[in-house]
Order: sequence, then C-alpha cells, then structure tokens
Amino acid sequence: MNNKNLESTFRYVLNNYLTEKQSPFKKNELSREVRKEIPNLMYEQLNLDQKKYTITGSVGKGNWATVPWIGCFDRAITSSATRGYYLVYLFKSDMSGFYLSLNQGYTYFSKEYGAKLGKEKARTAASIMRSKINVPSKFNLKKIDLASQKDLAIGYENGHIMGIYYDMNAIPDNSVLIHDFSLLLESYQKLKTLLNDRSAEEFNRYILLKDDNEYLENNEIEYQQAIDRYSGIVKEEDPSLHEVPRPRKQLVIDEGGRQKYPRDVREAAAALTRAGHQCEVGSEHATFISKSSRHPYCEAHHFVGISRYDDFPDVDLDRAANIICLCANCHRKIHYGVDEDRVDMIKELYELVNPRLEKVGIQVTLNQVKEYYGIGK
Ligand SMILES: [Zn+2]
Ligand SMILES: [Zn+2]
Repeated sequence: MNNKNLESTFRYVLNNYLTEKQSPFKKNELSREVRKEIPNLMYEQLNLDQKKYTITGSVGKGNWATVPWIGCFDRAITSSATRGYYLVYLFKSDMSGFYLSLNQGYTYFSKEYGAKLGKEKARTAASIMRSKINVPSKFNLKKIDLASQKDLAIGYENGHIMGIYYDMNAIPDNSVLIHDFSLLLESYQKLKTLLNDRSAEEFNRYILLKDDNEYLENNEIEYQQAIDRYSGIVKEEDPSLHEVPRPRKQLVIDEGGRQKYPRDVREAAAALTRAGHQCEVGSEHATFISKSSRHPYCEAHHFVGISRYDDFPDVDLDRAANIICLCANCHRKIHYGVDEDRVDMIKELYELVNPRLEKVGIQVTLNQVKEYYGIGK
C-alpha cells in the first residue's frame, strides 16, 4: 500500500480480517499491520510521545481474536487493557465497522464484585465518570456493540466510557480520524486529572462509594438520609453483623488525596433497627415519623469515632455494635453540648455500649472515650 494512513489501514483491516482469519495465524501480513504498522502510524500521524504513551495492537494470542484492537495507554496510568483507563480502537466482530473508545480494565470489577455484579459496577463507574468529565457531543455514545459473546468483547462493552462509532461504509477522512483521536485524548487526560495520582483501583473504590452504600465523614447529611431510606426498605437486622470482630477496613482516598474511613449505611441501619428506632439515651425522647422510612426518625452516631481508626489498627470501627441510635437533639448534643451536659450522657452510653463493643473486639476504656469527646479539656 502506498500513502499509508490510518484511514486506509483501518479500511484494509475491515475488508480483509474475516478472510485472513481463515489462514494460519503465524507470519500473517494483516496481523503485522495491526500489531506494527497501525501503532507506528499512530505515533507518527498523531504526534504521540513514545515515552508517555504505549500503543499496542492485537489480533489475538496464538489464535485469531473475534475483536482485534489497538490500545493507547498513558504509561502513568496503565500499560494493559485489563487494568486502568485507556483509549482503544475496537473492531466489530463482523467487520461492519469499528469504535474509538475511552475504556477501562475489567479485572478490578470482577475481582471486587464477581462476574455478574462486576459488569453492572463497571457500567455504573463509566456513567459516573461521564458525569464528571465534560463529554464532547461527538463522543456521547454510551453503549457499544461488538457483536460477539466472547468474554473479552463483553468486558470492552461494559468498560466503555465514551467514544464514537465508524461504520465501514462511512469511514471519515484521515484528518477527521486524527482530530477525533486527539479530542478523545483530551478527555483521557481529564480523567487522569480526576484520578489525581490515585490508582485506578483506588479511584474506582472512591467513585463507587455511594453505589456500595458507603459514605465518607464529610457527607454527614447524605449519610443520615441514606440510613433512614435504607432502614425503611430493610425489615430485619442481621445479628451476625455485629457479633464477631472483623479486621479494619481498607481506607478510601478522596479527591484531595486524603485517606478516609468509609461508613457503611447497612451497619448504621442495623443499629437503628436494633434500637427499635428509639433514642438510646432516653426511649421517651420525642421525634417524628420520617416520610422516607415511615419509622420514628433517628440518627446514627459512631460511639468511638471512626476517625480514631489509628488507635484500633486491627478492628473495624464501622460496626452496628459501635453505632448508637440517637434522636436528632441528642445527636447534636453529643457533638456540640457543654461538658457538664455530656459527661453523664457519655458515661451512661459507655455502660450500654461497652458489652457490645467487646464482642466485636473494640477495647476501649471510659477515660479514653472521655478523651475522644474532649471532656475535661
Ligand atoms: Zn455523630
Ligand atoms: Zn435523645
């Protein structure tokens, strides 16, 4: 081929892949195009820095793949299609066209959530990322269809964040292909800014917090609302939730790079259910019926604050046992009241809560608790 460019090379792959797939895999000319020529052309025509980006093309390992691909990886983020974020050209298995996709590796999701839920979580993560990055209208394609039932293809479909489809009968000019790629590269770089030096795993964990029923400390109002909502849906508490010690949770790194201890709504809802939706300081304390849960409204408060996790390196503090159910007034009081009002309250709560805490391995003295609440200072 003379005057090679991206357009002519992609056209060549689309026109010949299904036929070439019938011939031996080794030393194939088309395979060489995808693995060598296209990456070289991309470095050259897109003016990409080889130190910054790795470009890899694949037609399968040992056997022809149903979906050949060419990925562009920012080395600071990832160098593999199974982890992190990258740009990728994906050919439809019937060779009727190809996609340019900002995509994400699937391994984290299947490992963390299992195969089935993992797919859903990857799509949720993609939709959260779309809401955080301004998606150029051209790339407003939310779903891709590679016309294949193979795991890899399904992984790409679920991992798709944004991108564009090129039908084989309407492949644009080379200059448009180049322009599109550069534009999507900008979105890729915006995503990198959002990562803010976190690994893809850390970033996923952070953006999926709410979807996983978890909230950080700076989200107090949303946290209490979510607990109230959840306690209205879930009828019975699971006693196993608060009877044995559990190791400390993995910390979450927020957008500012701070380490935070995530709080699980389900633990707090179990605590409210355990208390029968009555204030644990005084069951007679007045409250009102919550519109969303239809229960008397109460709030969840961690008796040993989760910010004290450094003092408890081996146990999880986010346990129903360590969460007290308080009327809104007592909750404000325990945080903002004068010491003379709080000291008896904390002493009484300690007597109530300590046997529960021991069961889940949280060993704390009354003096330590007083210190946590700043009593006598
Ligand atoms: Zn509180
Ligand atoms: Zn109260």
